[in-house]
Amino acid sequence: MKAIFLDRDGTLLVEVGYLNHPSQVVPYHFTAEALKLAGEAGFLLILITNQSGIARGYLSEAELGAIHERMQAILRESGVELDGIYYCPHHAEGTIERYTKKCACRKPGTVLGEQAAERFGIDLGASFMIGDKETDLAFGRALGVTPCLVRTGFGSFEESSRGPAGLEGARIFDNLLNTVQWISKRRIGPDR
Ligand SMILES: [Mg+2]
Ligand SMILES: [Zn+2]
Repeated sequence: MKAIFLDRDGTLLVEVGYLNHPSQVVPYHFTAEALKLAGEAGFLLILITNQSGIARGYLSEAELGAIHERMQAILRESGVELDGIYYCPHHAEGTIERYTKKCACRKPGTVLGEQAAERFGIDLGASFMIGDKETDLAFGRALGVTPCLVRTGFGSFEESSRGPAGLEGARIFDNLLNTVQWISKRRIGPDR
């Protein structure tokens, strides 16, 4: 199986800071179309999200679950669904003791990607990561998938503040739909 690993906020959902209630789940207008296209092109859709708000006491794991149910329900109305949702609840400077640690699952750490790859049998060389921050790209590079930056969320800021050299090897697109359109037309194998 090949997969597209996806960041959540600023990539699928409008960036609102620390999203902590299902009512704040607002996909971009192109999100469902992009995910459908990716699914039709044979990609698993795997969400990888840093949720340090849990360690910081802004929301509970149960509340995060409700947020993700709401997101899936909205997507299902458009005939698409994420195949896997993986999150890191930790942060080194949290306020909730059991989540306060320097972990290996917070992006750019690759643990969650490795777990998904193992569970679904993902061919990482044929897979992609799409996100709006350098940490998403670093995660993709370290996992061995092709990293793609979107200009939504913090993406434009990342692009202008780091410049092309700072985004090392990443493809850059305006948004998720443009990215998936490029991916779905691309043949597996070396770039031509
Ligand atoms: Mg993001
Ligand atoms: Zn973690």
